[in-house]
Amino acid sequence: MASVEFANVRKSFGTHPVIKGVDIEIADGEFVILVGPSGCGKSTLLRMLAGLENISAGEIRIGGQVVNGLAPKERDIAMVFQNYALYPHMTVADNMAFSLTLKGAAKSEIEKRVKPAAEILGLSHLLDRFPRQLSGGQRQRVAMGRAIVRDPQVFLFDEPLSNLDAKLRVAMRAEIKELHQRLKTTTVYVTHDQIEAMTMADKIVVMHDGLVEQIGAPLELYDQPANLFVASFIGSPA
Ligand code: ADP
Ligand code: MG
Repeated sequence: MASVEFANVRKSFGTHPVIKGVDIEIADGEFVILVGPSGCGKSTLLRMLAGLENISAGEIRIGGQVVNGLAPKERDIAMVFQNYALYPHMTVADNMAFSLTLKGAAKSEIEKRVKPAAEILGLSHLLDRFPRQLSGGQRQRVAMGRAIVRDPQVFLFDEPLSNLDAKLRVAMRAEIKELHQRLKTTTVYVTHDQIEAMTMADKIVVMHDGLVEQIGAPLELYDQPANLFVASFIGSPA
């Protein structure tokens, strides 16, 4: 677990500013959701935190340490993407172990980590299968398993449920929350779906056009929206 801070973070692509001075403080173990319309800069913020994108100005800190300039692998972070990105020719077990294998971990160490992760995710009976033999929800769980075996200080999710059908999406919301209650890993979760944000977050960050409009607990935003944008975004159906 670690705290995460964005301090006056800015980002431009060429001359085009997309993050225009963002301050966010995330406590150890908190489940924070960045929400806002498509194109407002959510993925860019997440990618900067992961080190996949340089920042143009400001500071990002993880556990109090400034990480500007650190490569992704130098940050103790694991990211789950919306398209799973599983390796089709590898079994579930090998997919989950991949980052450990790359690091040269011993077979016994790999087993020690993959087994409990598979158990938590209900994948124990599927470890020898290949991705094509799995349902959408099972694939999503494997993607999460890959993040869990690394035991990172911070989990990042970028719209992890947007490729699932509505029913499964609701079930997976609950699973991800349960996982967080169990592991208590600091989590930054991106979605454009305000219902997902309202039902899952400890704290919501509402973004609009590269800026933070409001930060607060779900009920706080609902009861006391800071402005018309927050009121209409939080209040309107998906
Ligand atoms: P969101 O995830 O909220 O939908 P993004 O962070 O993906 O938004 O994008 C924010 C803005 O930055 C958009 O206008 C997008 O077109 C632009 N953008 C994102 N990535 C790049 C890139 N690599 N090069 C140029 N513009 C980009
Ligand atoms: Mg995005």
